Amino acid sequence: MALEILDSKTGTLREFHPADPEIVRMYVCGPTVYADAHIGHARSYVSFDVMRRYLEFKGHRVRMVVNITDVDDVIDQKAAGRGEKPEVLAARYEERFLEDLRTLNVRPSYANPRVSENVPSMIGIIEKLNEEGYVYEVDGNHYFRTTLPGGYGQLTHERPEDLLADEPTMEDRENPFDFLIWKKSKEGVASWDSSLGAGRPGWHIQCYGIMRGALGDSIDIHGGGEDLKFPHHESNILISLAHMGKDAIGYHVHNGFMTLGKEKMSKSLGNFVRLRDVFERFGGSVVRFYLLRPHYRETIDYDEDDIEKAQQDLDLILGFEGGLKEVERGGEPRGSVEEEIAHYRKRFMDSMDNDFGTPGAIRALLDFAGSEKISPDELRMTEARLALGVLNEADSILGLTGAD
Ligand SMILES: [Zn+2]
Repeated sequence: MALEILDSKTGTLREFHPADPEIVRMYVCGPTVYADAHIGHARSYVSFDVMRRYLEFKGHRVRMVVNITDVDDVIDQKAAGRGEKPEVLAARYEERFLEDLRTLNVRPSYANPRVSENVPSMIGIIEKLNEEGYVYEVDGNHYFRTTLPGGYGQLTHERPEDLLADEPTMEDRENPFDFLIWKKSKEGVASWDSSLGAGRPGWHIQCYGIMRGALGDSIDIHGGGEDLKFPHHESNILISLAHMGKDAIGYHVHNGFMTLGKEKMSKSLGNFVRLRDVFERFGGSVVRFYLLRPHYRETIDYDEDDIEKAQQDLDLILGFEGGLKEVERGGEPRGSVEEEIAHYRKRFMDSMDNDFGTPGAIRALLDFAGSEKISPDELRMTEARLALGVLNEADSILGLTGAD
């Protein structure tokens, strides 16, 4: 079977073909570093890490980029409140974020570009868009004309007014949904010079600029949480249409929401579970396994009982692995055992090929561990080695033990 991925834009499964057969280019929207990550962030980075690992397993070279948003009003406000420099606060939370990813067995990214180090390239894009009439000024701030390259709705297929609880009230804009692309500088915060005056780039152009700077003209997978579809990713598409005349993304991929008591988990709403608090009770591998048990597009309602169940299942798989390592019985592998092992491997891979179907893949592993035909008590050492080979492959994809 070939890998198929569900593209959020078309809502259909499409066989995966990278634009450049040599390298798969993946961009996942990174954090704004003003606080510690919550479990919802963990879910996103674990989901995309499994996609990246599976693509690598299938022989692709993957260039995965996760940006660091270290230029943001919230960072400035929080730093001012603490009497420290914004860059010091941002650097601390960036380090803690990367440490959390390591605890979750997330493979290091190809690059983690910071917004603060990529502003000149963003200015180049903004100035070009300005020359072409996509940008207008109101009182020193510059907005992007969202209706010009086609308007919102390309990802969500909904009207922006139906997506926001309250319509924006910025009456000075030509269109209430036009977004800030260049914000005039304020006293005391970092700003950059441009032909549009001193200022700093808005969030949407930050990601677009970093993505193109790090990965070039075509990106195979642009990923992030469901909540980033609108306005962030829709705005990225509009900038791309204005700047390049096309949407530069091959597959738009979004992981589902993480809820707490069925309410959306969000740092800005104050309704979240801090990842480091979860790590006080559970190891990174178990948290990762828990997050991978539902499909990445499903909503997960945070529940520690489910993490405990995940722990039991993970122990089952690791216990099976331990049993296989102790097998010493001699003899050539029997055909019936080889077939049984191949059967579970196929089930695992078929599930992964179906839009990274980790629930089916994990089910296959658990059935594998519970199969009477391949109980370590019955196996020969040659057969146990075959079974261990399958577990090692599965581990390299799901990243359960952090062995690599
Ligand atoms: Zn982004």
